[in-house]
Amino acid sequence: MVGVIGGSGFYSFFEDAAEHVVDTPYGAPSGPVTVGEVAGRTVAFVPRHGRHHEHPPHQVPYRANLWALRSLGVRQVIAPCAVGGLLPELGPGTVVVPDQLVDRTSSGRAQTFFDTGGVHVDFADPYCPDLRAAALQPGTVDGGTMVVVEGPRFSTRAESRWFAAQGWSLVNMTGHPEAVLARELEMCYAAVALVTDLDAGVEAGAGVRAVDVFAEFGRNVEKLKELVRSAVAAAPRQRDCTCVHVHDGVSLPITLP
Ligand SMILES: [Zn+2]
Repeated sequence: MVGVIGGSGFYSFFEDAAEHVVDTPYGAPSGPVTVGEVAGRTVAFVPRHGRHHEHPPHQVPYRANLWALRSLGVRQVIAPCAVGGLLPELGPGTVVVPDQLVDRTSSGRAQTFFDTGGVHVDFADPYCPDLRAAALQPGTVDGGTMVVVEGPRFSTRAESRWFAAQGWSLVNMTGHPEAVLARELEMCYAAVALVTDLDAGVEAGAGVRAVDVFAEFGRNVEKLKELVRSAVAAAPRQRDCTCVHVHDGVSLPITLP
């Protein structure tokens, strides 16, 4: 089964879908999980911020969302999200499939399922190469580093310029710990990032305003859904990637659902 975690503005995915109320050892997911069919694949969808955007980035129940998806049978997760562009050429409406991330979150978000035992996952390449390949549709940008900030505020100009000077290309508030939690559950994960604005350090002017971000997302959400549908259709039906073998040879203190 393929999972989709919808970001800001991406609160539903199917017309007619079965709704599953799933509970997890980490509490309830952000919202009801809906299960439907896309391109002949069964897909489970959860809105990352809840159906009415009730969970800000630092309060998203990331562990519950990933656990719920896996317990329903999901093994590949496509994760659309809103991002700011740190490069002038990555303007609003651009869709990027990043290949790296940098964690700049700070609130002590729960970022592991393994609070006991010696479990350390390989995270050199945070995204599944095979699922990334499926997400690379015509018109998308291949690769880039997404820096994940704590939020919910946007960056200062100095922070934004500093991020860009490091060679990072996108800024976001939810990509961590989502990606590593998927890795810990041996699920493939690929982010699909929609640029909603040029970040504060790139563009002179008033800086980033939430109202503009949501408006830009609204203009592009149908295009983004179409891209996600194509990614679902292209997702490998058989997994041959290293995501399947993350915990090989390790005795886990918990049983994966
Ligand atoms: Zn994989």
